[in-house]
Amino acid sequence: MPMTTFTPPTRILMGPGPSGAHPRVLAAMTRPLLGHLDPDFLRVMDGCRAMLREVLQTENEVTIATPGTGTSGMEAAVMNLVEPGDRVVVGICGYFGERIAQMAERAGGEVTRVQSPWGQPVDAAVVEAAVRAAGGVKLLAIVHAETSTGAETPVEPFARIAREHGALLLVDCVTSLGGMPVRVDAWGADAVYSGTQKCLSAPPGVAPLTLSPRAWDAVRRRETPCNTWYLDLQLLEAYWDERRVYHHTAPISMVYALHEALSLVLEEGLETRWARHERNGRALQAGLEAMGLTLHAQAGYRLPVLTTVRIPEGVEDTAVRGALLHRHGIEIGGGLGELKGRVWRIGLMGESSTPGNVLLLLNALGKLLR
Ligand code: PLP
Repeated sequence: MPMTTFTPPTRILMGPGPSGAHPRVLAAMTRPLLGHLDPDFLRVMDGCRAMLREVLQTENEVTIATPGTGTSGMEAAVMNLVEPGDRVVVGICGYFGERIAQMAERAGGEVTRVQSPWGQPVDAAVVEAAVRAAGGVKLLAIVHAETSTGAETPVEPFARIAREHGALLLVDCVTSLGGMPVRVDAWGADAVYSGTQKCLSAPPGVAPLTLSPRAWDAVRRRETPCNTWYLDLQLLEAYWDERRVYHHTAPISMVYALHEALSLVLEEGLETRWARHERNGRALQAGLEAMGLTLHAQAGYRLPVLTTVRIPEGVEDTAVRGALLHRHGIEIGGGLGELKGRVWRIGLMGESSTPGNVLLLLNALGKLLR
């Protein structure tokens, strides 16, 4: 008999995402559907736009949510900003930086990769040398919070490099937005995107994205139409702004979810929310070290929202993660790319970032490793 209804088991989501969604967000998704051009739905979109500006700390006019998960935000930013022959420098210190580089190549860009070891931030001095050597770089890209390694790359030095060399700065804030300071205008970042299922604590499904006036200008001055119709930002903006030109049928329930999630972030307050993530993340890291485990990311650059811890010698990765899931109902992540089988990735994002979850995980992992 095929399953006709599905009741998910209770899980505590402490992996690299999705995080646990707030009940108010889940409830928002059960509200009746409206048409995607209904004036009341358009008010919800306007609310999202206004709240996104606050959460992203920007006054950028072009601030929307692309349909699709975080990767849709990445693809929209890269495909719209890179034209064939454009020079692009990508600072890579993990899996997601490499994804940006691959997209820029698919857009026809001439891509220079500047690699740092996985677990360290991108090296600004090496990037600056690469930007200078390439000459005429249009786009410099980095990932703020590298979810594959647990390392933060501070954005400010790259904003300075981009400014001094006349390049646009693209920053992936999929894992940081809503959990760590993201200050788009103060940084001077030109294109920033995120996702909903990490520190915003909504289901995966739309991707916040903002473009500075400079970046928007570059999009509008393209000589060739961008290589994606669905994620063409000029078409998407014409739906999100007062023109309201039909482009796609908006994922109505996901927009409700984003609206509720952003309201929750602002009710908590950005500073308070960042401090909560910081406190819980550092408590988890201290607890793991007290158990004799080794944290993978370089000290001083460890993300509070995603911790990578090395799997001890002789311990079987999947057996421990399986036991955590099936005996304790806790999901954590395995390693990605070159860290596969070498680290566990423990998320404390959004609703999942609580002192109770820190203690539950330390207690359960402690029992399994005894
Ligand atoms: N960028 C980073 C830093 C991520 O962590 C992720 C997802 O984990 C993505 C991009 C891609 O987002 P998604 O899986 O929602 O498409």
